[in-house]
Order: sequence, then C-alpha cells, then structure tokens
Amino acid sequence: MKIHSKAVHSGDRKPAGRHIPVTTPIYTAASYFYRGSIETIDRIFAHEEEGFAYQRYDNPTNAALEELITDLEGGFGSLASGSGMASLHVSLTAAIQNRRKSILCAEAIYGATIRMLQNLFEPFGVEVAYADVFDLEGLRRMVAERKPGCLLIETISNPLLRVADIPAIAEIARAADAALIVDNTFATPMMVRPLSLGAQFSVHSATKYLAGHGDVLGGLITTDQEHFETVRALSRSYGPVLGPFEAYLTMRGVKTFPLRFERQCANAARLADWLRAHPQIERVFYPGDAAHPDAEVIRRLFPAGLYGGMVSFEIRGADRQRIFRFINSLQMIVPATSLGDVHSMLLYPVMSSHREVPLEMREQRMGIRENLVRLSVGIEDFEDIAADLDQALKAV
Ligand SMILES: *Cc1c(COP(=O)(O)O)cnc(C)c1O
Repeated sequence: MKIHSKAVHSGDRKPAGRHIPVTTPIYTAASYFYRGSIETIDRIFAHEEEGFAYQRYDNPTNAALEELITDLEGGFGSLASGSGMASLHVSLTAAIQNRRKSILCAEAIYGATIRMLQNLFEPFGVEVAYADVFDLEGLRRMVAERKPGCLLIETISNPLLRVADIPAIAEIARAADAALIVDNTFATPMMVRPLSLGAQFSVHSATKYLAGHGDVLGGLITTDQEHFETVRALSRSYGPVLGPFEAYLTMRGVKTFPLRFERQCANAARLADWLRAHPQIERVFYPGDAAHPDAEVIRRLFPAGLYGGMVSFEIRGADRQRIFRFINSLQMIVPATSLGDVHSMLLYPVMSSHREVPLEMREQRMGIRENLVRLSVGIEDFEDIAADLDQALKAV
C-alpha cells in the first residue's frame, strides 16, 4: 500500500471479541486480565505471548498507533511517548546502552534537545559534542577522533531549513559502530523515511505534522529489530508512555496527514515564490530553491514537488522592534510556538527557539539574524496567507 492508504488503514480494525470497531477505541483500562487464566498473564510478563497486561507496558490504542507509524516509517517497531522530548530521551538512552557513552549531535538542532543533553546526559558522565553535519569531511574526522556511540541529527534543520545527507551520515556512523538517530519531525515520512536510508532510529514530535491540529503533545520512535526490545524495555521501566486519549487523537490526525501535508507543501512553495518577489523581503530560506546549499541532497532524498511546509524569511532592515510590530499586525496567522498545524503559525527564533544562544554564536556561526522569522504554513487558502503577510509587512 502507498502512504495515503496506509494512513487510513494500518493499525485499525482489530477484532474485539465478536465485533470489529471501524476505528480503534480509547482504552483507558490501567490493567487487563484473562478470566480463568492467570497463566496467560504469566506468559505475557515472560514475553512468551503477546497481550495486554498493564498500561505502562502496552495498551490497545497505543499499539494501533505504533503499528500505523511503523508502517509509515518502514521500521521493525515503534513506541508512542508522552512528548517528542521523551522519544528523543528514550532513543538516545537505547542507542548508547551498549555503546560508548558519547553523543555527537548536530549543531543546528532543536533548542530543547541541547538542553536535554546538558541536563539529562552530561551530568551522568555522557560525553556530548556538537558537529556541523553539513560538512561531511569535518564530521568524518570528528567521528574518527571522538568515537561517539551515537549521532543525533535532524532531517531538516530549524529555522534555516538545511537538509542533512542522511545516507552519507549513516555511512560515517556505521563505519564507527555508532547508532544514528534522525529527528524526522520537519520532513515527516511523506518526504523521508530515515530507516530506509541507514538510520537506526526515526523520531517524531507527533505534536507537529502527524497529529497536526495543535491539540496533542506526543512523540513517536520507530526503530530497527536490533534496538526495538531495548526501547520497549526502557519504556516499561520508567513509563514515558503516551496517554490513550492522545494516542487516539494522534491516530485520527495521521489519517488526514498525507492530504494536509501535500496542501501545506503546495502553499509553502507558492509562498516562497511570493516572498522572493516581495520588495520588503531580503532573503527566503526554502528547500525548494534551486540555489539551496543542499540542492543536490534534496534532489536525491525528497520526492519531486515536496519540499516541506516550512518557509523562513528575513524582513529587509527590520530590527527586533519592527519584527514585533509585524507579528502584532498579523490578523489570521497565529503567532505561537509549534508548527505543522492546520493553521499557519509564525515564530520569531531570536525571541524563542534561539533566545539563549549568544549573539555572536547565533549571527556569525549559525547565520540566524535579528530580522528572521519562521513560518509554518497551514492549509488555509494561499491568497489569505499572502494577504495577511502583506498587510502586516506594511506595519514594519
Ligand atoms: C517540537 C520538536 C521537538 C520536541 O517535541 P515535543 O513534542 O514538544 O516534546 C523535537 N524536535 C523537533 C524538531 C521539534 O520541532
């Protein structure tokens, strides 16, 4: 089956006694038993038999969502967690459990991921270093030198939308026996399936495109056979599991995700063109640009015509105060944190995601200037999005 069909069929319609529910219900039961057969629970605890015993281990609603995402990402199995950060934490822990306690992370990475490495790994003796993953020669040298147990990258970086050469990075990781974790939140399985390109973990903040309606916090890990049992065992031990209601909402969201995403990509492509032609726009960052620094990787990895739903741009001559005026003038576009929702959302990196990055580092090394904003393009009519940006630009 193709992704549009999988999205509405995988994981669902499991027989429940004599009937088959057309969509998976929300199972809130904390535990399960098998009448007259304590032996069944015994075998489930021993992993000799599949079945449900306790919510921290597994649950029919989560199991349906996990089967669905495994099918979309093309892996051995998945774990649904309470947040994207919980999914990253479990993945990193599983990746280095039997490897060197050393993580090499992409420099251009989600801000909370850096804080997690600082707060939850470094204090426990895990070495953490950062690399420019768009410089493959430099990366190869650093991996040879540091011998990390794990590499952590994002398919599409934030907010400048660089695209990682996952097959080449997977090759570098494999040669050093390091596991590769790819945060695939921005690209989604519509554009890239990291496990098919050599990664061992594909991680999502399901909060974003997969759930897609701004009403769920959740995370998903899809992994290979080698790491699957470790991931599940970690989750059984400390319980970062997704609640069944959020699992249901995420699954409901995923059913229309391919449709929404195509529309978001189409709107983003038109907006990138529109912004480039606008006299007040200094620069546009968009993976569909022929002149994008990773154009060759993009041609190789992305399906034709899909470049994601994110567009970042610099407003000519705008300082912080003018950017605030621009944002305060938006009528329809929602000026809130997060992305991937049905509605368009605008974020100011200098104020939010990159707030704590020192000026020199942010401007010189990362290239994130004070006049840059990031737009997560929604499914609204293109004309309305463009009109809202246009009228708000007049206030700058
Ligand atoms: C939002 C996000 C996360 C964190 O996910 P939460 O669901 O907020 O915990 C991780 N990585 C990326 C790329 C994100 O956009």
